[in-house]
Amino acid sequence: MLDEFLHEPRVAYFSMEIALRNEIPTYAGGLGVLAGDTLRSATDLELPMVAVSLVSRAGYFRQEIDAQGHQLEHAGTWDPKRWSQPLDAKIAVTIEGRTVWIGAWLYVMEGHMGGRQPVLLLDTDLNENSHGDREITHYLYGGDNVYRLKQEIVLGIGGVRLLQALGFTIRHYHMNEGHSALLGLELMRRYTYSVEEVRPGEPQYDLPRVRDLCSFTTHTPVEAGHDRFPYDLILRVLDNSFDMQVIKGLAGEDSLNMTRLALNLSEYINGVAKKHAEVSNAMFPGYKVHAITNGVHPFTWAAEDFRQLYDLYLPGWCHEPQLLMRADCCIPDASIWEAHAKAKKNLIEKVQSLTGISLHPDIPIFGFARRMTAYKRPDLLFTDLERLKAIARKQPFQIVLAGKAHPNDENGKQLIEQLHAHARDMAGTITVVYLPDYDMALAQSLTAGVDVWLNTPLPPFEASGTSGMKAAFNGVPNLSVLDGWWIEGCIEGLTGWAIGDPAGMPDGNARALYDKLEQVVLPLYYNSDHSGWIRVMKGAISKNASYFNSHRMMRRYATEAYSR
Ligand SMILES: *Cc1c(COP(=O)(O)O)cnc(C)c1O
Repeated sequence: MLDEFLHEPRVAYFSMEIALRNEIPTYAGGLGVLAGDTLRSATDLELPMVAVSLVSRAGYFRQEIDAQGHQLEHAGTWDPKRWSQPLDAKIAVTIEGRTVWIGAWLYVMEGHMGGRQPVLLLDTDLNENSHGDREITHYLYGGDNVYRLKQEIVLGIGGVRLLQALGFTIRHYHMNEGHSALLGLELMRRYTYSVEEVRPGEPQYDLPRVRDLCSFTTHTPVEAGHDRFPYDLILRVLDNSFDMQVIKGLAGEDSLNMTRLALNLSEYINGVAKKHAEVSNAMFPGYKVHAITNGVHPFTWAAEDFRQLYDLYLPGWCHEPQLLMRADCCIPDASIWEAHAKAKKNLIEKVQSLTGISLHPDIPIFGFARRMTAYKRPDLLFTDLERLKAIARKQPFQIVLAGKAHPNDENGKQLIEQLHAHARDMAGTITVVYLPDYDMALAQSLTAGVDVWLNTPLPPFEASGTSGMKAAFNGVPNLSVLDGWWIEGCIEGLTGWAIGDPAGMPDGNARALYDKLEQVVLPLYYNSDHSGWIRVMKGAISKNASYFNSHRMMRRYATEAYSR
């Protein structure tokens, strides 16, 4: 079953979550979608990889929202048998002094250009394990700190052992965020100096060798966002064959910080946008954090009608998305407008079937969909309801919202309730709909079918953001606060618009948002013949989709990180 993947050395890509396809709910948001797009690009580019993640049988969760705007969480259980095959290898790790067995499912990612890549989904739900241990790989981002540590042992240590047991030759390990950093400890155990080489008092681990093998992508621009485990927990849960002094030297004296561990065990470290790399360099003095700005997978995020357009006018774009830079002069305006009208129609039909609400095809739709959490500021648009209504009375628009809040994020859940209250408040003046259960399929419809993609994070918390890049693939301009990727992507009036003055108010406040909407965005949309608007749509494709794609990202990983 694995033979086709074992004959050449591969890059092992470790991620706690990965969006393989919409039917497999092993992802929570942007990090997982990025992991999926990473693998999809590696597949198209035939860059040999093997992805390692958890099977997350209970998924993240399925979101239902009641009439009051309360989020109800249902298990998103999926059946690994339906999409993947069980592998007969098993390895063991030690957790809390017990032996915990780990098996895996093989999912084969099949690219639309014929490439194939193996994905190992680790699973502890085996007869050999106790009831509690069988659940370690059930809930993505579920449970407490102890549960998380057990998952990270399975992912990092279990993953490395399983790759070896299955016969993979790994030429490089890539940690997508710090969750998998324990893989470095397993590699340290593998690469020790022979006894004769070790002089008393000197480290026995071959750290340079481990570092040469590892790359680390950090995604979190705040210290508080990094996984951290107290050492009494580590002593109780992790097996005791590691030298604690050495671990403390690598991962922090006070607690085991997974980001520190990953930083210290990786030769190549990168942030996910230029600004994020700067912020990370300031947060981690002494390390060199490179910038490889994120991208999205071309074929996945271009809607059917845009794919056809690109195939016709820019053949080869799926392998070489740089070709899209010619979209501005090579694709007729009318064809762009028609493709967009179809995507918009599809979205309007979806909204109708999900909510019973009819959106008007001739009125612009603003889209805002992402994880509902405080720093994303989904409520910024609704800061001054009277002003918003006044703008809409003169130049009408409609709003489509979506997003899940993490079950423990009370603040995020409150935001969902507030957005529902605002929607009721706006009724009659602005149609506002909130679509439940944001997932990849909904993201595809939304980023293609709206007229403007809105993003209002509080800088510098948006490390990159990727949904705006998906919009660009469909000629949908962004209206966004200058943070994350948009600092690189925004050419004012050509690819979209910045909220706030880059020099004066980088945090982009509500007033700046209203001013830009009222004075720039809506007038351009309602300007008689759409030619000015289509120019921006083409700018989004030719300047942004041509660059902010995961093929470019993977080519950089391949030449700069994996080639060490
Ligand atoms: C792309 C995507 C995200 C990430 O959106 P951001 O703009 O980075 O916040 C989250 N969830 C889903 C389902 C997505 O497709």
